[in-house]
Amino acid sequence: MSLSSLQIDKEWSLFLDRDGVLNERIVDGYVTRWEEFNFLPDVLEAMKVFDELFGRIVVVSNQQGIGKEIMTEGDVVKVHEKLEEQVKKNGGRIDSIYFSPHLAKEGNIMRKPNVGMALKARRDFPEIRFRLSVMAGDKLSDMVFGRRLGMKTVFISDNIRDLRKGHKLIDFAFPDLQAFASHLNQSH
Ligand SMILES: [Mg+2]
Repeated sequence: MSLSSLQIDKEWSLFLDRDGVLNERIVDGYVTRWEEFNFLPDVLEAMKVFDELFGRIVVVSNQQGIGKEIMTEGDVVKVHEKLEEQVKKNGGRIDSIYFSPHLAKEGNIMRKPNVGMALKARRDFPEIRFRLSVMAGDKLSDMVFGRRLGMKTVFISDNIRDLRKGHKLIDFAFPDLQAFASHLNQSH
């Protein structure tokens, strides 16, 4: 399967993970305020490409720092308002951002790799078709999430160990979001 064979157009939706895809992941920590949110290189450029190609673009993010009481839902919402604003200012678009405040051990339906956030997105945007959706993330749990929903999966990582371990879950792999975007652009 090649990306061009998917014939991505406005019927398609893009599901994006946040930490490690849009912004630098804080190892053993959380983005608690905007000052700690650092865009990864060329992400804003990539978002412009996605805006032109995809009908819907949503972010789905696990934020168990809320469950751990390191930050509040309000803190996360504030970060997301800034994120949406910056993307928009640079010619891109995020239609909605969903996040799960639950602890990993709770096994909540809303926390990836469980599919609750995607179901919520489809309730908000009934035109979303999971079969015509791409999930891009930097963790194998993102790939499981995409697989469970019948999406195409894009692994944004150069972690060779995960790539090998997850090869059955991963349809395409790129080192960063911009590499995925420029590949889409070329194959279009
Ligand atoms: Mg991530």
